[in-house]
Amino acid sequence: MHEDIANRLIDISSKIQKACHQAQRAEDEVRLVAVSKLQSVDVIKEAYALGINNFGENYAQELAEKSSTCPNDIVWHFIGPIQSNKVRLIAKHAQWVHSIDREKVAMKLNNALESEGKKIHALIQVNIDHEESKSGILPEETIDFANKVIAHYPNLILEGLMFMPKINASKEAKIETMTKIVYLHQSLLSELPSCSHLSLGTSGDFEESILKGSTILRIGESLLGKRS
Ligand SMILES: *Cc1c(COP(=O)(O)O)cnc(C)c1O
Repeated sequence: MHEDIANRLIDISSKIQKACHQAQRAEDEVRLVAVSKLQSVDVIKEAYALGINNFGENYAQELAEKSSTCPNDIVWHFIGPIQSNKVRLIAKHAQWVHSIDREKVAMKLNNALESEGKKIHALIQVNIDHEESKSGILPEETIDFANKVIAHYPNLILEGLMFMPKINASKEAKIETMTKIVYLHQSLLSELPSCSHLSLGTSGDFEESILKGSTILRIGESLLGKRS
């Protein structure tokens, strides 16, 4: 098992390195988050022993349990849909949240962080293609929403944008979508220079996303193995 993760990490790291080189970007501009939802604590500890210390979780309860039993210098990223009755757990156990998708969530999380006496690094999840089934802030509302978060929810340190691609989209469609989110990010950046992060690549498209300018890759099964 350990060897499997080690081999996959070598493979992914060399692909990241190549893509950074091709994009003329420094490798330390791109952060790898290992998506560990539904993976055991043993798997997380194996990956941690190989030098990975950013992990992504989708379920608040699972995040709470894992962060309490795993090494305490792990940086936890909450990347799943946020239920408002779970903001407390997220406030307590995560250092990053990628899925701020409506104002109510920003407000409740901000309040929970206030009681914890802490701040969290936050990304706005964007619904770039106006998909009805999908949560997220619409592209034309994103800059206003970012300004609102900064003005009203000071426990959220706004860092940029996050996007979750359609699983079944063609490669061309994914690239088109990526291009749109990169443009949106550029216009956000020109107004709010501190929003420098873009959480974009997943297992299927991380090399392309590095070329486009992603700063945070969320990679699950192709690094840690099949989820149970
Ligand atoms: C599960 C998940 C990933 C990783 O998916 P893999 O296919 O396992 O790489 C990335 N981002 C989000 C938001 C996820 O929920």
